Amino acid sequence: MSNFSNTIKQVKAASKVLGLKEATIKKLTTPKRILQKKISVKLDNGQTQKFEAYRVQFNDARGPFKGGIRFHPKANIDEVKTLALLMAIKCAVVNIPMGGSKGGVTFDPKKYSQTEIERLSREWVRAFRKYLGPKQDVPAPDVYTTPQIMSWMMDEYSKLVGKRTPAMITGKPLADGGSEGRDTATGQGGFYILREATRKLGLRPKGATAVVQGFGNAGYHVAELLHEAGYKLIAVSDSQGGILNATGLDPKKVMDVKEKQKSVQKVAGVKKITNEQLLTTPCDILVLAALENQINKNNVGKVKAKIILELANGGIDTTVDEDLHKKNILVLPDVLANAGGVTVSYFEWYQNIHNLHWTRKEVFVKLEKIMVDSFNQVWALMKKHNITSRRAAFVLGIERIVKAMMK
Ligand code: NAD
Repeated sequence: MSNFSNTIKQVKAASKVLGLKEATIKKLTTPKRILQKKISVKLDNGQTQKFEAYRVQFNDARGPFKGGIRFHPKANIDEVKTLALLMAIKCAVVNIPMGGSKGGVTFDPKKYSQTEIERLSREWVRAFRKYLGPKQDVPAPDVYTTPQIMSWMMDEYSKLVGKRTPAMITGKPLADGGSEGRDTATGQGGFYILREATRKLGLRPKGATAVVQGFGNAGYHVAELLHEAGYKLIAVSDSQGGILNATGLDPKKVMDVKEKQKSVQKVAGVKKITNEQLLTTPCDILVLAALENQINKNNVGKVKAKIILELANGGIDTTVDEDLHKKNILVLPDVLANAGGVTVSYFEWYQNIHNLHWTRKEVFVKLEKIMVDSFNQVWALMKKHNITSRRAAFVLGIERIVKAMMK
């Protein structure tokens, strides 16, 4: 089954809880606009190469479309459509007034120079210019797209419309209209959600154990926050594999080694483990911050965590959500757990529109309120309907989208 059909299944199940009519579900699961174009890019050797570029604008009932742009050799329309729908739901779960979209180019940036990547980025904006803009559709970074790329895109758009327009895109560098706190917003937001969940379960940080898969931007930041809060971080991993130390790891020291020697596995005096072993390590909290489908039919029976924080989009194969629920493992689903990223992107857009610059503290105070409120709303729906947390999050988001569609 494609990712898209699987997500539609999730949407339909949540719509059933809400008692939505077929016609409404049809509208909800149909993208408003699918844009696909071949873009031509001049290479450094003088030749021209064509690449498939996409933008799917799924739903803007609650506000301008919002969603990242992914540069990846495997980017395809099914994936872009799925992520656009999930963006609409995510924005609605945290109740920010934005809709959902996603973009991409089937392209491997690792094989091209910075000047070629710049030309491709500018070409992407020219291709979809008519449909972009602060009140229409606001892109952001995603896999293999960076703050620098956002700057190029903003510059290109500004040239095309004849005025500097920072609010047309988010995830920009601080010096070019970016927001304080965007760099660590996903991990920070995830931590607020986790903190609320542990309070509900009566789990105290002191003595509790945590395991983090994926020691990158999101995973490292959560590891640091957990360590500061008193959790014992017993295992972490990256693409090379994992490490385990029952007496605890210091995330800063692990990161020092990773930066110098390219992998967490170079840390001395700890046990080396595989990623598969890491996922089934007995622990209180398991953070997924790497790739999709890490918890699936093959390993769900062996997972021994009490709470899973799904920072990675699609970190859990949703067909095993029920198994986890039955095992009494609380999943904090991606549409809630990693929504801190898009929330601070929304703050960036808002600051640009109003010519404001909030401090990091101001950003995090606002972020904390949004994440805590959203967690409590998802929790209440989960208890009310006795459903999985993912279903509850979908119910919350979909109800808000449908209300806006009906107005
Ligand atoms: P990143 O590239 O900074 O980090 C990813 C980490 O995962 C790296 O340390 C990498 O070595 C590791 N990794 C790769 N393959 C692995 C494997 N097989 N096993 C274990 N580790 C592996 O990426 P990120 O920005 O931290 O994003 C992580 C996840 O969170 C992604 O799924 C992303 O879509 C999601 N996410 C991130 C943000 C954000 O703002 N950064 C927002 C929303 C969602």
